[in-house]
Amino acid sequence: MATKKILLVIDVQNDFCEGGALAVKNADDVVPVINELIAKGNYDLVIATKDWHPPDHVSFQPEQIGKAHCVQGTKGAELHPGLSHAAITYIQHKGMERDVDCNSAFRDNDGRNLTGLSDYIRAHAGEDVEIHICGLVTNRCVKLSAFDARELLPRSKIAFIEDASCGTRIESIIKAKKEMQDVGIEITHSRAVLPDSPPSAGLPGR
Ligand SMILES: [Zn+2]
Repeated sequence: MATKKILLVIDVQNDFCEGGALAVKNADDVVPVINELIAKGNYDLVIATKDWHPPDHVSFQPEQIGKAHCVQGTKGAELHPGLSHAAITYIQHKGMERDVDCNSAFRDNDGRNLTGLSDYIRAHAGEDVEIHICGLVTNRCVKLSAFDARELLPRSKIAFIEDASCGTRIESIIKAKKEMQDVGIEITHSRAVLPDSPPSAGLPGR
């Protein structure tokens, strides 16, 4: 069986985009890049995650994030309206337990419960998969999802698509990229993974 290709889009939701409760600067810029990946990337599965909290979620307390966001069923929890929704084959909700947050697409922050995404991928695409991961934010949910994919799907090949992702602080983004590289995750660019792109496009200095 040929290796299946998966695009994993992390938390591209209204509350993390312009005008949202926890808006991340320039987050909206990832949307056209992700749409191009979806349109041209020949993915077998396009999976999106949604932060999906109950109204009294632990992360809303001042000692944590301190702000309500992505409350189940609200507009803020919806995926960005510009995203190619029709192409998304599966949505993984996370952070539904009141007392524990879930930054990774694959398991709760306390490490106790899996979300079920690794089983879903195994069932629909097997063990030898290629996962392209992107979304919001690079230095938290994207990074932790990539780490868990590395661990829970050890035979997978994982690439982080930098220009289809956005982070919050430059030092933290640089650190996250280094940490991902250190566990064998490729750091790449949409131009480099789209099949019909000229090989040198997008590389600096050419
Ligand atoms: Zn959250």
